[in-house]
Amino acid sequence: MVWLVCAVLAAGAIGFTLFVRERDVPPAPVENPELKHLETKRQVLYDNLKDLQFEYHQGKLSEGDYQSLKAGFLGDLAGMMEAIEKLEQATGARSKEVTSQGPEDKEKLKHGKTQPGVNVCPFCKTENPSDHRFCGKCGKALAP
Ligand SMILES: [Zn+2]
Repeated sequence: MVWLVCAVLAAGAIGFTLFVRERDVPPAPVENPELKHLETKRQVLYDNLKDLQFEYHQGKLSEGDYQSLKAGFLGDLAGMMEAIEKLEQATGARSKEVTSQGPEDKEKLKHGKTQPGVNVCPFCKTENPSDHRFCGKCGKALAP
């Protein structure tokens, strides 16, 4: 019965490790070649770290060697993550630039209020229809 418990625990531990790893290292969409290069290096570091842990658990490494090597990998990894973050922020900021095209407000041409059909009498200032040749008030000839 004990072996069964151990097997379940081991399976759970492996599953948990895989789950966490999956979440920690998302396959980020990469279009920047520099970013891709960094992502690759980061993946290599992760793999090295995994191998290191494996070898340590296998008893191939001493505690001191394991800790110093792990510290070195983690230091490289931290620098890598920082560089990646900076790159992602740079590319993210670029993509946020929206090329907004405001609605073209076509100003309607406002025609003057001058009514073409009106002829003002030069003598009494009375407005007459343009087809009238003489002023309706004073009877004088209107300008054509
Ligand atoms: Zn008139």
